[in-house]
Amino acid sequence: MSLTRINLFNQTKQKFRYTTSLLFNIRHLATVTQDHNIKKRDVFNNSFMIDKNLYDIAIIGGGITGNALACALVNSQKTKSRRIALIEFNNMSNIREWKPPHLQFSNRVSSLTPRSIQFFKDIGVWENINHERIRPYKDIQVWDGISDARIRFNSDDISINKNAEAIAWIIENNNIQHAILTKLAQYKDSNIDFLENTSVKRIMFDDVNYENEQFDLSDWPSLELSNGKVLKTRLLIGADGINSVVRSFANIESLGWDYNARAVVATLQVEPQVENATAWQRFLPTGPIAMLPLNNRFSSMVWSTTPTLASKICTLPSNNFIHLVNAAFRLRIADLEYLYSQLENSDIEFAKEFEWRQSIEKKPGIGNEIFPPLVLDVQEKSRAEFPLKMRNAESYVKERIALIGDAAHTIHPLAGQGLNQGLADVQSLVKVIEHGVVTGQDLGNIQLLKNYSSDRYLSNLIMLGAVDKLHKLFGNDFAPIVFMRSLGLQVINNLEPVKSEIIKYAMGIE
Ligand SMILES: Cc1cc2nc3c(=O)[nH]c(=O)nc-3n(C[C@H](O)[C@H](O)[C@H](O)COP(=O)(O)OP(=O)(O)OC[C@H]3O[C@@H](n4cnc5c(N)ncnc54)[C@H](O)[C@@H]3O)c2cc1C
Repeated sequence: MSLTRINLFNQTKQKFRYTTSLLFNIRHLATVTQDHNIKKRDVFNNSFMIDKNLYDIAIIGGGITGNALACALVNSQKTKSRRIALIEFNNMSNIREWKPPHLQFSNRVSSLTPRSIQFFKDIGVWENINHERIRPYKDIQVWDGISDARIRFNSDDISINKNAEAIAWIIENNNIQHAILTKLAQYKDSNIDFLENTSVKRIMFDDVNYENEQFDLSDWPSLELSNGKVLKTRLLIGADGINSVVRSFANIESLGWDYNARAVVATLQVEPQVENATAWQRFLPTGPIAMLPLNNRFSSMVWSTTPTLASKICTLPSNNFIHLVNAAFRLRIADLEYLYSQLENSDIEFAKEFEWRQSIEKKPGIGNEIFPPLVLDVQEKSRAEFPLKMRNAESYVKERIALIGDAAHTIHPLAGQGLNQGLADVQSLVKVIEHGVVTGQDLGNIQLLKNYSSDRYLSNLIMLGAVDKLHKLFGNDFAPIVFMRSLGLQVINNLEPVKSEIIKYAMGIE
C-alpha cells in the first residue's frame, strides 16, 4: 500500500471513530433529555448501541475512592446518564449490612480532613454516616521522642478559620463504605452496574473475542472478568489500590520505595475522658506512634515500626501490650529499648517495669508534658500490621485511562493523608468528566484527561515529598539533627502564622 493510501485509510478510520463518538454522545444527550417517565435503560437499549457490555466508564476497585467516584458521578446531573461499571473483587454485602456492636470499633480508621467531609456532604454520603461512631478532634499534640520538643495545633488558632468545627474527623473505614453503598443503593434508576465478587483478570486492546461489527472500538480497553464476561469501556479508571492491574496494563511505572517498616494498628480502651478529642503522635527513632480518639473511652492506634518489632508487638500478650503502648508514649527511649529487648521474656512483668520506670522519670517542675490517656485494654483481634511504602505513578493518565487513590500514589500514614488525597483525586476527576460531557468530548480522550493529572499530580507529589521528609527527619537519632529538629519544632510552635499555614495545608484548606 502506498503512503498516500495508508494516510487516506487512517484519516477515514479517524473520521469513522469521530462519527461513532459523536453518535454516542448524541445518544447520551437524548437519554438526558428524555421524559423521566420513560425508563432510561429502554432508551439506552433502543439506541444505536444495543450492546450491554459497552460502558462509558469502568471503575476497577470498589475501595473507598472507587465507590466515592461512582457515587459522585451518579449524583452529578451532568454525568448521571453515563453508563458505568464498578468492578470489585470482594463481596460487599457485609459492609452493606454493617451493624457494628456498640462498644467495638474496627481497627481500620481514617482521619478525614474538612475538605473530604465537605465532599461527602456534597454528594449526599455524609447523611448516611453513623454519627455516633465518629469523633472530630480540634487538637493535635506532636512531640520528639528523644528531645521531648513539642508542637501543638489547635483549630481555634487557625487565623483563616476561627472556631473551625474540627481539624479532622476519625471515622472507621467501614462506616464510610457503608454510607457510600447506602447512597448508591438509593439511586434506583442509575446507569451503574456494580459487579462485586468479580475481579478483572485481563485487560487488552484489539481483542478478537469482542464482536461488534458495526463500530470500530479497537482503541477501547476490553476487560476480561472472572465471571467470563468481556466488557468494553470508553474510559477505564484504576481505583484498584497499590498493586493496580490497570496501572500495569497501561505500562505506567510506579516510582518510590519501601520503608522497611510496618504500621501496627489496634483498637485501645483508654482511661475514660471528659472529652477524648486530641490526636497524639510521638516520633520514636523506629517510627511514629499515634493515638486517635474514637469516643471518650476508645482510641485507635497506628504504630509505625520495624518489621521485627511489629510482629512481636502484634503477638505480645494483651496485658504486656497495653503497658508497652503506655511506655511508648511516656518513657525515655533507653527505657523503651530495654522493654523491646524483653518482649520474648515471659518472666518479666511489663506493668511493674512501666510503673517503676515512669516513677523515676518524673521530672518535677516541667509542666508542659501532657500525655494521651492511659491504655487500659486492647480490643480482641484488633491488632494487625501493614507494610509501609511510598509510591507515585509516573503518570496518572494515558489515552482512555486514569488512575486515582492508592493506584496512583501511596503515602506513609503518619500524616493521615492517603485517603484524603484519593478523595481529592475523585473530586478533580469528576469535574473533568463533567466538563467532557458538557462539551461533548470523548471521555477517554487524553487531552481531556490531562486536565485531571495537571490538577492533581504536583499537589500529590508535594504532599508525598513532605511526609517522606518528615519520616526521614524524625527517624534520625544523630545528635545535631535531633537538636536542629527540636529547635525547629519549638520555633514553629511559637510562630502562629507558620503553624496556621501548616495546619491549613493538612486540613485541605486551599
Ligand atoms: C495503617 C494505615 C492508616 C491509614 N490512615 C489514614 C488516615 O488516617 N487518613 C487517610 O486519609 N488515609 C489513611 N491511610 C491511607 C488509606 O487507607 C488509603 O489511602 C486508602 O484506603 C486507599 O483507598 P483506595 O480505594 O484508593 O484503595 P484500596 O483501599 O486499596 O482499594 C482498592 C480496591 O480495589 C479492589 N481490587 C484490586 N484489584 C482488583 C481487581 N483486579 N479486580 C477487582 N477489584 C480489584 C480491592 O479489592 C480493593 O477493594 C492509612 C493507611 C494505612 C495502611
